[in-house]
Amino acid sequence: MALFPLFRAARRRKILANSPIPDELWDWAIREHRIFGWLSSEDLAILRELSTIFLGEKIFDPVGGLELDEETRVSIAAQACLPLLGLGIDWYNDWSTIIVTPREYEVEKRDVDSAGVIHEYDDEFAGEAFDLGPVALSKVDIEASGWGDGYNVVIHEMAHKLDGRSGGYDGCPPLRAGMDPGDWKRAFSAAYEDLRAKIDRRPSRRSRRKGPRIDSYAAESPDEFFAVACEYFFEKSHLLRSEYPEVYAQLALFFARDPAA
Ligand SMILES: [Zn+2]
Repeated sequence: MALFPLFRAARRRKILANSPIPDELWDWAIREHRIFGWLSSEDLAILRELSTIFLGEKIFDPVGGLELDEETRVSIAAQACLPLLGLGIDWYNDWSTIIVTPREYEVEKRDVDSAGVIHEYDDEFAGEAFDLGPVALSKVDIEASGWGDGYNVVIHEMAHKLDGRSGGYDGCPPLRAGMDPGDWKRAFSAAYEDLRAKIDRRPSRRSRRKGPRIDSYAAESPDEFFAVACEYFFEKSHLLRSEYPEVYAQLALFFARDPAA
């Protein structure tokens, strides 16, 4: 077998031994975020270990004059690692940098449509996951995440990273052993079509206006539906389970956890 996994395991043991998250900081992170309320003491211990490795391996890159405090770093790590409780830290092996912006940021986009017409527009981002590259998160949105209201920019961008591991962004990450891709596709496409049918206009990004109970941003594309479904799975599990029980069941199999139970 390759040496690299052995090297990595040794490096991780070192991180756990030499760079533990201080008790006070960890207790704060768990108390501060309502989404950790359902975790057993075993899960909390796994989460702390995953978060410690995450902090030791990922590079945090604050931009725009932002000073990144320890609370924000631990808050990002704990929320990013929540989806990994049943998967393991290796699922984030293919990227390393987290860019943190002070707030939502505007990006100039340029698309060419099927008629060859170029559309240029400004788009506002709370976060972004770049293919094989960094994840960008806005601090304002990190602070708005974890309250149990369905919005979680950290989990959203991590979900894109999990999705991309299958080689493309289609709302279907590589599934765990024993899962049926057919069941996954049926559950997600039925829910996606249902949500789209409920929305009669193009949704504005991250809007929380009255309408469907699931954020209409999920209707943008199958990969956004998956990322938003992951936010609800960990933030508002009962709502997702009642709206789209098949999607909830597939996510419970994939994440090997059942937060609504
Ligand atoms: Zn997204």
